[in-house]
Amino acid sequence: MAKKYEGPAIGIDLGTTYSCVAVWQENINRAEIIHNDQGNGTTPSVVAFTDSLRLISNAAKNQAAANPTNTIFDAKRLIGRKYSDSIIQDDINLWPFKVVAGTDDNPMILVKYKGEEKRFVAEEISSMILSKMHDIAEKFLELPVKNAVITVPAYFNDSQRKATKDAGIIAGLNVMRIINEPTAAALAYGIQKGGNFVGKRNIFIFDLGGGTFDVSLLTLKDDKFEVKATAGDTHLGGEDFDNRMVNYFANELKRKNNLDISGNPKALRKLRTACERAKRTLSFDIETTIDVDAICQGIDFCSPVTRAKFEQINIDLFEKCMEIVGSCLRDANMVKSSVDDIVLIGGSSRIPKVHQLLQEFFKGKDLCMSINPDEAVAYGAAVQAALLIEGIENVPDFILQDITPLSLGISTKGDIMSVVIPRNTPIPAKMTEERCKTSVDNQFGVSINVYEGERIKASENNLLGLFSLLIPRAPRGLRIKVCFAIDADGILNVTAEEETTGNKKEITITNVNGRLSTEEIERMIQEAENFKVEDLKFQMRARAMNALDDYLYKMSKVMEDNNVSSMVTPADKTKINSAIMNGKSLIDNHGNQHKEACVFVDFLKELQGIFEAMLNKINKGSKIKLEQ
Ligand code: AMP
Repeated sequence: MAKKYEGPAIGIDLGTTYSCVAVWQENINRAEIIHNDQGNGTTPSVVAFTDSLRLISNAAKNQAAANPTNTIFDAKRLIGRKYSDSIIQDDINLWPFKVVAGTDDNPMILVKYKGEEKRFVAEEISSMILSKMHDIAEKFLELPVKNAVITVPAYFNDSQRKATKDAGIIAGLNVMRIINEPTAAALAYGIQKGGNFVGKRNIFIFDLGGGTFDVSLLTLKDDKFEVKATAGDTHLGGEDFDNRMVNYFANELKRKNNLDISGNPKALRKLRTACERAKRTLSFDIETTIDVDAICQGIDFCSPVTRAKFEQINIDLFEKCMEIVGSCLRDANMVKSSVDDIVLIGGSSRIPKVHQLLQEFFKGKDLCMSINPDEAVAYGAAVQAALLIEGIENVPDFILQDITPLSLGISTKGDIMSVVIPRNTPIPAKMTEERCKTSVDNQFGVSINVYEGERIKASENNLLGLFSLLIPRAPRGLRIKVCFAIDADGILNVTAEEETTGNKKEITITNVNGRLSTEEIERMIQEAENFKVEDLKFQMRARAMNALDDYLYKMSKVMEDNNVSSMVTPADKTKINSAIMNGKSLIDNHGNQHKEACVFVDFLKELQGIFEAMLNKINKGSKIKLEQ
């Protein structure tokens, strides 16, 4: 594999519900999952906005119940999709935050931030999560990091991949490559097994996460991973199981308590959190309780739930997973018995019913659960990142050969989809359609409409973009050469050429698809920088306030000491007590939250001056000191 980049590089698994970052460590010759400031390997993919702050990850998740309309999760479900997409429309009914249609039918997330309404595209929210992962990595490595490999579900289409790459760019990263999550997991699996595979192995990756379901069948032979087929559903995962539970218990509340919480975001958020917790417990216990204090109107909600009930309300979703497993094998032309390893990843792959159905499907074959389902994708991404960096030694030189998840083509006469690159074609790939001809005499231009999808009628597929090419007037049948080039990230570039004149044009998918233009990306990069400056300011202010608070506390303790108190003159006592009061009100007054850090630093200095002068006076030295 050609090595092109310099400097450290990280692998980021940008998940719907949680994200994870890893780095290849040369000193130990393996990738390492980087833990966040809470000591966890995974970080919630949540961003929140308040009157004074932007919060990311745990801080955002922790305040979600109190601030549901401004706490954004699931950005990955929105990324690269249009507002009118039926999937988005269904989701909007479940999200407590507002999503509206923007220009080009782009979904815009609406929040209240610092008292003002602000709109974000999904790429911006994802970029904030990526920035957080980037920060976590830089803190751990104590080095600036620029390069990253980001993973996406194998089933992500062209515009979702592009949008994810844009999110990385907005976050200030150099996105070296976008790779498929199951491929990254296979890489992690291959490495964990020490590359000790004899002959050829067929590896089936089953990835059931928070929002997406992804399966891939890969063949590993002589250090080369070849993806044979992928399948999945960009809208099937843990959150769907949570939704089912939320609906079930919201109905129970209606029935038993005559309480309708359907239009109450706070109550729904509380119930969702309890359901998600119960779901996790049911992977290990056969019964648990949904327990929510004061869910609404002061009513406490408590209801038992069994594993059997959880399975019953989700069984059609689990069965859907198995259908997708079957279709992946069919696409790869492979029988079940030829699969050597079934590797489970994604948080929801811990669900026992999923194990049971998978084992039944593969006729009792053991499932491989030895790799960490939450961390395997980031691990693989870090390996891929290291493989792309100049000078990193000892990275197992696996070669990844990914494939296109959907067919790519153009619409031809009669709205027929003429496939140029069939689905499951190994990438990178370059293919040319030579049969494209003008259909009327003296046509002066042709319109090239580029689609992805499997439908025969082109307009039923997903329109990626369109452009027109000027041509010389000629009788019908003038040949136009259309070339599709798909790069290692799975991103498509299309050119059309009229051969007699050499007129050539490249596609600009961005406009039609509502993707971001370069100017928009640049504006967002600038905004992301502004956010960073604000975050830094906030951190400095918080540190200064804490230092002042600390000092005030210690001062009060000294003043409460009778020995000291008896030595201080009444005038000094008044002076010190009033300084303490002023300090406390500076911290407690909500309006002061907006003051710059220097206000607190200066006040602290003044306070130290007053207090130390008093101590010197009564000690004539400094026997009495503030406790450190
Ligand atoms: P991922 O996108 O891979 O991070 O997976 C996150 C999803 O896994 C969330 O929906 C979690 O609720 C779900 N999850 C995590 N642990 C468990 C568990 N023990 N049982 C069931 N689901 C889980």
